[in-house]
Amino acid sequence: MMKREKFLPLAQPSMGTEEVAAITEVIASGHLTTGPKVYEFERALSRYLSDSEPLSVLGLNSCTSALFLGLKALGIGEGDEVILPTWTFAATAQIVEWLGAKPILCDIEGASLTIDVETAEGLITDRTKAIIPVHIAGYPCRMDELSALAEKYHLRIIEDAAHAIGTTYKGRKIGNFSDLTCFSFYATKNLAMGEGGAAVSRNEFLINKIRKLSYFGISKTAMNRYSKSGSWAYDIEALGYKCNLDSIHAALGLVQLKKLDHMNQRRREIAGQYRRELDSTIEFTEESADHYHTYHLFPILLPDGIERNSFVETLKAHDIGTSVHFIPLHKHSYYCDRFPDERFPEANKYFERIVSIPMCSAMDNEDIEYIIYHVNRIVRGW
Ligand SMILES: *Cc1c(COP(=O)(O)O)cnc(C)c1O
Repeated sequence: MMKREKFLPLAQPSMGTEEVAAITEVIASGHLTTGPKVYEFERALSRYLSDSEPLSVLGLNSCTSALFLGLKALGIGEGDEVILPTWTFAATAQIVEWLGAKPILCDIEGASLTIDVETAEGLITDRTKAIIPVHIAGYPCRMDELSALAEKYHLRIIEDAAHAIGTTYKGRKIGNFSDLTCFSFYATKNLAMGEGGAAVSRNEFLINKIRKLSYFGISKTAMNRYSKSGSWAYDIEALGYKCNLDSIHAALGLVQLKKLDHMNQRRREIAGQYRRELDSTIEFTEESADHYHTYHLFPILLPDGIERNSFVETLKAHDIGTSVHFIPLHKHSYYCDRFPDERFPEANKYFERIVSIPMCSAMDNEDIEYIIYHVNRIVRGW
């Protein structure tokens, strides 16, 4: 197969004329920051996610903000411990440290790359306040087991659902299972806004608390103070931060949300083709009826004898982007002294051979066939 003219990145957003029109409309309206568009996005997201009970949704400038403000609103701070998987992005652990609490890294269970619930139980102490499961690549964690653990030890569950918008566990969407679920709408995520996130909970009181924290501890009505119905009066009720979502990003989110199921379905089709056509010597993360996977990422495990760096370089030479999701936190210089390698046998085992190949709904069939051809070619040693 010939070389391509264009680089195929690991991920690219699916954006079109509708998104451009939505942003243009916001700019023309003159209302750029938090306002009606943001509230419209929050309501639409709530309708999309809620199953039996309505969910409260707060749009924020990132998933990191949602996780940080969520833990803060739940009272987690100095001296507390929070258990989270080593297999995640920096944000999941660092927000815990911003609060003066201690992240406790936990090994993964295996091919799903998600937190091992039994190992997590062994890490619980009398200082443990919460667990942050991460639905890696859009594959849902064992929420039943995690909920049982939380109940048994009186812990909070805050989900890092940065990869999992639209993912379902036992037929129910992620967002309906725990104290708080945090989504990311970062540029590469399944629903892309560039930057953006949301905090989601059945507990409206908690969401209102996070709302106040997200804007300098000022109550909600203050955001409307420049509209006709607004008032000049506002009160700073607590120490807060600056993490509000703006109308331009929310407008993008509204269009993307309408397309989300379709985009996720396209990701699933691509994953199906990868599974069918990539060489059988490559293992994949598991999927089952209980676990509706939305394939934010598509990690593959390289067989013995295939060296990762040369695999990556060879694909790059053919204009195919790859990455590694993730370098486990305990492998980083900032964390390795606190969390010795031998505590994470499963993560170590998978980390050695893993690599993510391109996955996004914007790819066409030709792109996918091209990727499959080159991955198989390298693995077969041609
Ligand atoms: C992207 C990501 C985040 C952070 O999301 P932002 O919206 O960029 O703050 C958190 N956790 C995981 C696992 C992520 O991949």
